[in-house]
Formats: sequence, structure tokens, C-alpha cells
Amino acid sequence: MSEKLLNRRNFMKSTLVSVTGFPLLASGVLKQEEKVEEKGGKKRKFIYRTLGKTGIKLPVISMGGMYAIDPALFRAALDSGINHLETAHIHMAGKNEEMIGEVIKGRPRDSYFISTKIPFPRSIITGALSPAAKEETFLRMLDISLKRLGLDYVDFLCSHNAMNRQMVLHETVLNSMEKAKKDGKARFVGVSTHRNEPEVIQACTDSKFYDFVMPAYNFKQKHHLEVREAIARAAQAGLGIVAMKVMGGTGGRSDILRPVNASAALKWVLQDPNVHTTVPGFASFDHINIDLAVMEDLTLTDSEKDDLQREASLPGLYCQGCGQCEKQCFARLPIPDLMRAYMYTYGYRRPAVAQELVVSLGLPPRVCEECGVCPVKCSIGFDVPGKIRDVARLRDVPTEFIA
Ligand code: SF4
Ligand code: SF4
Repeated sequence: MSEKLLNRRNFMKSTLVSVTGFPLLASGVLKQEEKVEEKGGKKRKFIYRTLGKTGIKLPVISMGGMYAIDPALFRAALDSGINHLETAHIHMAGKNEEMIGEVIKGRPRDSYFISTKIPFPRSIITGALSPAAKEETFLRMLDISLKRLGLDYVDFLCSHNAMNRQMVLHETVLNSMEKAKKDGKARFVGVSTHRNEPEVIQACTDSKFYDFVMPAYNFKQKHHLEVREAIARAAQAGLGIVAMKVMGGTGGRSDILRPVNASAALKWVLQDPNVHTTVPGFASFDHINIDLAVMEDLTLTDSEKDDLQREASLPGLYCQGCGQCEKQCFARLPIPDLMRAYMYTYGYRRPAVAQELVVSLGLPPRVCEECGVCPVKCSIGFDVPGKIRDVARLRDVPTEFIA
């Protein structure tokens, strides 16, 4: 039996398909540990999983720092047992890392884990690494991140937002990451991706170099079965799996249209035994409380399953990253990135993050205004030029007006 067939068979064995065809995993296949955390005199039993070959046991929910603007949220997360904080060099133009640095100052270094992500310059359309990508530039950016965090090393260092196999396996990327490890500035290295995930995950597996991978993975993905299979192969090869974008486009737990059932979305992704932790963002103390409850019990209730099925059938704000639109666009705009910016604005309610992204794309001065009839047909029915025109306006807003 081929390895592919074997993996697929194991995968199917662990998958239940509900009456409406929405896939749910059987909880009986989960491998995990429980640890009792005692905070404020209260004992709670949280679920932990081991992050692959790193051997590090993490709670199934870590904290994505991207849109927490209040340091008290980070403190509350750490104090309640969420001991892994995740950020990026570019988030809030570095202020996110600085905020985390302030929060962890004075805490024992072995009481928390820190991830950060650093990008390599690349084509925004093809994802090909640009000639400007240099080992020394990457390592200088890492030094800046470490300074902001007030640390000598990060636990997990990610190459930020890889779009394809070429970027994962590029010599400059591998050499930079290896040097960071050798210099003792990163314990473990990995790759984050929210586009073309199966290819990127498989490249990480094939590399035999990376320690973990951080893919977008959620119930809204039309291709989530392919993502799941790639994750299974990666986990089998020993990679740690950190799932991101688990809310399916509503990082603020509600979009402009409706709230999302955050517990259900988290439980759905954690039904996959190969996902070791997740990095949802917290924008309020209520979000932390919801996530702590999930850390105690991953069982999907019938009403949560109904919510997921209903939500999965709606278009929402999550761009699938399929790339179908880019070939059709006269101006070859980086449409998936623009849709992500739209999602950050109306789903995550973080226009500052969206503005950073839009500005980084180097768009022409006028977008979607001169084409006449737009030929772009989105695979899930997004009004692409309308969303682009809307979100591109962020370029003209002074940053001091944006939270
Ligand atoms: S209207 Fe916008 S999305 Fe459509 S082809 Fe023109 S530039 Fe591309
Ligand atoms: S076709 Fe639609 S879903 Fe696919 S990448 Fe373009 S905007 Fe996203």
C-alpha cells in the first residue's frame, strides 16, 4: 500500500461526515495530556499537546497577539495558563513585540514561550523570493525583534507568510534560519502560511529542516481536507503544527454581519489530533474566558455543529487564497492579500493591521477605477473590485486616526 493511500485511509478512519456532509473528527482519536493549573485559588484542568519533535508541551490554545492593543490582555492570558504568546516583526510596526516585551519583563524565562515571525522580501504576486532577500537583513530584523521583546532568544522563529515551495526551500531562507539557531537566537524554526497551504506544508515536511509549521486552517476553507492531509503527513514526520486563522475570517469573533461561534471554530480545528496548538487573537477578556473553557473540553456540542455547518455555507469574509482571480485581473493586483486586508478591516475590526498590509503591497495610485467591466470572477462570489476600492481607501487615512 502506498504511503499516500495509507495516510488517506488513516485520515478517513478518523473522520466522521455529518448528515449535511460537513466533516467532523471523532474525538476518540485525540492524543493529549491534561495539566492542572491553579490560578487565584481555582483549579482548572487544561489540555496540552506536544509540539512535534520540539518536545515542548503547549496548551491547545496559545495567544495570537496580532490585534491585542491592551497589555492587560497578554498579562491575563499568561496568568491564566496560556503560556505561549505569538507575534510578528511587522505587527503594529513593532509595537506588538514591544508590548509583549513589557509584559514578560521580570517573569521567569521558563514560564512562557514566545514566537515571532519575520518576512523575507518577495514578489507579492508569485511569492518568489526577491534578490533583496539577504541573510544579514533577516538576522538584523531578528536582532530588532529580540531587542523589542527584551530577550536573548525566541522559542519559535517563523519565516512569515510563505506562499510556495520555492520560498520554503530557498537557500537564503534555510541559511538564515540555521544561523539564527546556531547563534542561539531561536530554539526552533518554522514557516507560516495562509495561502497555498498544502504545498507549503509539504515543502516543510520534505525539507527535513524545519521544526514546526503554522498554516491557516479552519472550517471555512473549501480545501480543508487537503490542508488536513498535508498536516497529517507533516505531523507524522515530526513537525509541530500550530494552526492559525482558525476563526475563518472573523478574528474579532464577529464580522460586520454576525458573531461567529468562536468555541465551535476552535474545537473544530482541535478535533484534528495532529494540530498541537492554535493561535487565536484575543481582543477582550471575554475572549480569554471563552478560550479557557475550550482548553478544558474540546467536545463539540450539537448546537455548535449546527452553527459551524450554517456558517460554513455562507460566503463570509474568508478568501480561500485559490489565486483564480489574479490571472484574470488586468492589473495583476495581489487580490488575495487585498481580500485579507478587507477581512482584517471588517472581520477582525483592525483597520491598522489592514492599513499596514495595504501599504506594504505598493499598489498603483488608482485601483479598480479604470478597467470598465471587471473580468474577475471570484470562486466564492466576492465582489473583488468593490472590496478592493473599499479597502484601498485606507492608504489615504493618516495612521493617527486608525486604532
Ligand atoms: S477592476 Fe480591479 S480587479 Fe478588476 S481587472 Fe481591473 S484592476 Fe483587476
Ligand atoms: S478567487 Fe476569490 S477566493 Fe480565490 S483567491 Fe481570489 S478572491 Fe480569494
